[in-house]
Amino acid sequence: MPERKTKRGDERTPLTGDFDVLICGASFAGLAVARELAGATREDGSPARVLMTDRYEIGERQTSACGIPTAWLEAMDLMGSHRQTFPELVVTTPHGTSRWPLPWTFSTFDYPELCRLLFEQSDCEFETAKVNGRTGNTVHTDRGDLTAPLIVDALGWRRILAGDGGFQPPEAPLSRGLEVHPNGSGDDLAIWIDRDIVPAGYGWSFPARDELRIGVGSFDPRFHVKDNTVKLAEDLGSDAVRYQGNWIPHRIRPAAEEGIFFAGDSAGHCLPLTAEGIRTALYFGLACGRELRDVVEGRQTRDEALKAYGSFSDRHAWKFRWMLRAQKVVPRVWPPLLNRVVSTMQRRRLVTWAFGHYLRIAPPEFAGQAPRPRVRRREREAAAA
Ligand SMILES: Cc1cc2nc3c(=O)[nH]c(=O)nc-3n(C[C@H](O)[C@H](O)[C@H](O)COP(=O)(O)OP(=O)(O)OC[C@H]3O[C@@H](n4cnc5c(N)ncnc54)[C@H](O)[C@@H]3O)c2cc1C
Repeated sequence: MPERKTKRGDERTPLTGDFDVLICGASFAGLAVARELAGATREDGSPARVLMTDRYEIGERQTSACGIPTAWLEAMDLMGSHRQTFPELVVTTPHGTSRWPLPWTFSTFDYPELCRLLFEQSDCEFETAKVNGRTGNTVHTDRGDLTAPLIVDALGWRRILAGDGGFQPPEAPLSRGLEVHPNGSGDDLAIWIDRDIVPAGYGWSFPARDELRIGVGSFDPRFHVKDNTVKLAEDLGSDAVRYQGNWIPHRIRPAAEEGIFFAGDSAGHCLPLTAEGIRTALYFGLACGRELRDVVEGRQTRDEALKAYGSFSDRHAWKFRWMLRAQKVVPRVWPPLLNRVVSTMQRRRLVTWAFGHYLRIAPPEFAGQAPRPRVRRREREAAAA
């Protein structure tokens, strides 16, 4: 059982207040937003008041298998959380096993440690509180109401702060994923594309030094993955212990709506074909945080930031839509033919081309990109007058 660190009952004291920025959700997307706001000052030079909230303590509840391109860990200065690196992806179908020589490496990391390191890069306040909803610029939590002109929904697939009430599975465009975390070790980052494991989706085993993360993801939200997750773990000689699962959004949604900024799963920023959503949550979280900083420091208005961030996300939408199309097609391909395609991907030139494009959807260099020139809005308006 995961250790509960979050305060409960009487320990949950009332929480209210006005802030410059309110970041709801303290996982990948929320922490990336907070990182970009570190040291932000208001136009009068005073420190910006940024509050981040989550129903759990930071890093308390792991939300994924924690696989990511290694370059993202390096670019974000998060190698302290690194567990294991893989130069190949091992793909098994009912007709054979192929080893894809990746042009860049993939790594697994420790979730609590990554969250701790990322939080250290920010200087915002943090409070545990469960977000229940929103009215205008006020977010309602189980500890009280919080108000801010700049509000970020980094709460995951539910998109709680949206006016439409968010998503309801299983009708919504969601995949479902479940994994177990037995003790053990391995050398291969492995996936299985096999209709006996899941009709549409894949199974995986991600070693993380002294632990394996074995799971099944279904693109069809109605397909229950528990039995097959247990079976895959048993087939791999591991115990089905320490479960972790969630819904995974597989359709991109507006990243700026009704005055709210959405980043990560709340905006459907998870890549539909692979269900890779960590680096995209970081990527869009950084982009969102940079726009917010420009507002706080007086270089643009909130509406300008909403427009800029919304357009930034929209510019990526066609890539997400292509991946969604591929997600629908792959399960329909005749398995022997699919195996031929999987096998062809062992050619270095082909895999380099494909994975080069794939990485560029959310490239790690973005983490180190210099902020835009720091001209305050007041100075800009004075210059224009
Ligand atoms: C089984 C599984 C394995 C996966 N493996 C990988 C992988 O290896 N690599 C990869 O790239 N992607 C993986 N993904 C996808 C990835 O986990 C998500 O895309 C990613 O976590 C999105 O990050 P996020 O910050 O947007 O949302 P989340 O990580 O979901 O964080 C949302 C945060 O909001 C908080 N929250 C939610 N509701 C409330 C509320 N009402 N009040 C207060 N706080 C709230 C949560 O506690 C959480 O901290 C996996 C998904 C699943 C389900």
